[in-house]
Amino acid sequence: MNIREVQKWHEEQVAECRSEDDEQSLQFHKDCVQALAEGVGLMPTYQYKCSKCGIEFEDNRSIHAEADTPRCDCGEAMNRVFNPTHTIWKTSK
Ligand SMILES: [Zn+2]
Repeated sequence: MNIREVQKWHEEQVAECRSEDDEQSLQFHKDCVQALAEGVGLMPTYQYKCSKCGIEFEDNRSIHAEADTPRCDCGEAMNRVFNPTHTIWKTSK
């Protein structure tokens, strides 16, 4: 994954958060776009929670695997919860 892909992804997320009126995530992705311009990559870590049993699960898969929602052992689809923790990586010049 290169910087352009990551930047594009965050820009898409900004647009998506705007349409969903998700202020918290919107600010996060805006910060990411800003950081990328300064050569610092920020990747969010996602957390999922089962609404039925309350089990939480941290997902460290790549952003490309985001499409499939993980399922809990009980069979319930897990909900993504905003997690402000992120992985920082230095982008090459
Ligand atoms: Zn469950």
